[in-house]
Amino acid sequence: MMNRPIQPAQHLQSQVPVELQAPDIRPYRRVSAAAGTPAIDYLVRLESGKPGPHVLIQALTHGNELCGAIALDFLLQEDVRPLQGVLSLVFANVEAYHRWDPENPHGNRFCDEDYNRLWGDDVLKGPRDSIELRRARELVNYIDSADYLLDLHSMSAPCEALMVCGVREHGGLKAVAMTQGIGLPRWLMMDTGHPAGLRMIERGRFGDPRAKAVAALLEAGQHWERKSEAVARDASLRFLAYTGLIDRDWALSRCSLAPEQQRVIQVTEAVIAKTKSFQWLADYQGLEVIEHAGTAIAQDGDACLRTPYDDCVLVMPTRARFTVGNTMLRFGRIES
Ligand SMILES: [Zn+2]
Repeated sequence: MMNRPIQPAQHLQSQVPVELQAPDIRPYRRVSAAAGTPAIDYLVRLESGKPGPHVLIQALTHGNELCGAIALDFLLQEDVRPLQGVLSLVFANVEAYHRWDPENPHGNRFCDEDYNRLWGDDVLKGPRDSIELRRARELVNYIDSADYLLDLHSMSAPCEALMVCGVREHGGLKAVAMTQGIGLPRWLMMDTGHPAGLRMIERGRFGDPRAKAVAALLEAGQHWERKSEAVARDASLRFLAYTGLIDRDWALSRCSLAPEQQRVIQVTEAVIAKTKSFQWLADYQGLEVIEHAGTAIAQDGDACLRTPYDDCVLVMPTRARFTVGNTMLRFGRIES
């Protein structure tokens, strides 16, 4: 039976109330770095003085994703200190963040272009210029020196949290193993990359399955919902404990969420809008598991979009305005 089509739901997004408070990050602009380290604004480098890994958490890859900034602010307020190695806390797209306006919360994802689509050397070393490219060029060597990277994000539509582990053959399996060590969130996803450009978690050693360096991207929930704050904070604390940088008891005493029974999804294909009339047949939030292959989920012009296999997971359906050629959804197969 065909359900009534649902209109692309920009209005659903703007109805999500802003429950989070954007922290004042200006005190972190010039935090004294150790001698010999680069002076980069909004990069907080904490050294243990002992050998060990370089562990990096990045917030604000996207300017309106508040939970990451709140998590880093929390760690700094709690006076986090590495027991070994080096801990770096990076506020990435601060230019966009400083344009935050709770009355227009979709307005400052980026200034000129998406900061997380320009991490290929061809783009970074190319002739183009933008606010985001300048920041990426300033940070890239530093990012490349990390052994463990957690990139904190949130999503425009309400959806359960998930860890984007990247492409299976390009470091995805390393990120899955790390996320299983972290214990959060419930959903782990290996995908097929992003057609619009290389993401930070895929570049260099992170994307090389033979290298030790590992990176993952947390989508902590909807941008402004209260829960995303706890997910980003707890995942960060557990990540630091996993890498051995901080004491596990210190970390867990500051967590509020229990570890999850985790599921690993392999994205098998991305669904692209072929017509302007693409319409969902139900109000999908994302991470629904559709039991039967062949279930109709959307109408795209004359074509009916159906799930390709049993127990198909609907990954990140786009409910915002879209244009032809946009990725509307990814199909995911549950691996474990
Ligand atoms: Zn993001």
